[in-house]
Amino acid sequence: MAEKFFWADAIADQIIKQKGTKKEYVCASGITPSGQVHIGNFREVITTDMVVRALRDKGKKVRFIYSWDDFDRFRKVPAGVNKDYEKYLGMPISDIPSPFDDSMSYAEFNEEKFENSIGKVWIEPEFIYQNEMNKKCAYADLIKIALEKKDKIKEILNKFRKEPLEKDWWPIMIYCGACKKDLTKITSVDGYKISYECECGHSETFDIRKKGIVSIRWRIDWPLRWRYEHVDFEPGGIDHSVYGGSFTTSKEISKEVFDFEPPVYQFYEWIGIKGGQAFSSSAGNALMLSEVEEIYEPAVLRYLFVGTKPRSAFNISFDNDVISIYEKFDALEEKYFSGKCNPMEKRMYEMSVVNVPKKLPKRTGFRHLASLVQIGGADKIKEERVEKVRNWIEKYAGDDMKFEVQKKVSGKFNVKEKKALAELKKVLEEKEYKSDKELFDKFYEICEKVGIGNTEFFDAAYRAIIGKEKGPRLASLILMVGQKEIIKLLDTI
Ligand SMILES: [Zn+2]
Repeated sequence: MAEKFFWADAIADQIIKQKGTKKEYVCASGITPSGQVHIGNFREVITTDMVVRALRDKGKKVRFIYSWDDFDRFRKVPAGVNKDYEKYLGMPISDIPSPFDDSMSYAEFNEEKFENSIGKVWIEPEFIYQNEMNKKCAYADLIKIALEKKDKIKEILNKFRKEPLEKDWWPIMIYCGACKKDLTKITSVDGYKISYECECGHSETFDIRKKGIVSIRWRIDWPLRWRYEHVDFEPGGIDHSVYGGSFTTSKEISKEVFDFEPPVYQFYEWIGIKGGQAFSSSAGNALMLSEVEEIYEPAVLRYLFVGTKPRSAFNISFDNDVISIYEKFDALEEKYFSGKCNPMEKRMYEMSVVNVPKKLPKRTGFRHLASLVQIGGADKIKEERVEKVRNWIEKYAGDDMKFEVQKKVSGKFNVKEKKALAELKKVLEEKEYKSDKELFDKFYEICEKVGIGNTEFFDAAYRAIIGKEKGPRLASLILMVGQKEIIKLLDTI
């Protein structure tokens, strides 16, 4: 089957082969919302989204879960946040206020932003908040197993550690029932009952089925949740994927401790930025999904990720390459509706647009819009793309893409140039041109008649119209601005 060429379809096949026929498959994704959620995290969720869609396209029922690890501890005060936040160190990030909006918790603020952003590109997983799961003691039975098999877990983890884990190490941590911090020490474990003491002086014995103050350590937490949700597929960043990394140990713990066959795994590479030096909004140079969404339409944004296998690194362009990316997407769409796509291209298009339109949608080319926007001619165009173009021109476009139509011609022109511009005016007065091509052909006639080189002619025309030597395609620029307007302008020489 030719469709196997598309990477997500290949992964879907592998899941079915490895996990067998199931009533429902579970695909998972998730992160700790400790700081701003960046584009690398987006790669994780869109990788899962594509695999979910590939499975569904094969007629399978799929549950797509996204887990927020928001019961993790607040580890350090990020740059730009008040030093005062040190008082929250060691508390769950779900239980401290956001420094940016005190109606929300630290975790909620980041979660909400990200959830809104991915919704815009049609990614709609079922969100699971680990602080809620832990607070309602959902994992008590599995935690009990982890506690009973603590030595086995230690043995697995120690294989990859230089320093073995300490004697009194436990696979869990406790948030103190009084001060809420994790500055606690477990003193005894008996079935579901745990005793601990805290640095604050508080100590107690509690039942893990009744009091949700247990936080599971990451390398145990991951396989425990595979087992709990019966996960069949999950991608992971390259940092988790190296030998001895958390995937290696989680796989083993999943089998040896929780008696669960680990999910099919796909690692994904990081994403870089090309252009867009103007970034300033995000601390620590982390590129936010919302910033990408400012200049890429949802389908084109998805297309960026569709076209690159998760294991390959790539850069998201903010420079003039944005134009060619839009052009490639438009070309793919046209090809799709002309019925000429090969199976791979067909899948790429379907995965990009998600809801395939009935017929070829009307889209204005990005390059053309970039000119229209700058001469105020895009106001009547009701396309989402107009706003993206505006944002791009304002923030990232190269100088060669920016221009402003002159109110009055300024600068000096030599005799030949003046003659050529007078000819141009005449040509524009003669008739109304219906196409760029029709007008464009006239330029060469002008050059021949006046005896001026093509380059010199274009140079003079650009200087007269937009006051710089280069600009958008001349014929198209003139027709966009309007012949009458250009005639008026040339009159001012
Ligand atoms: Zn305490």
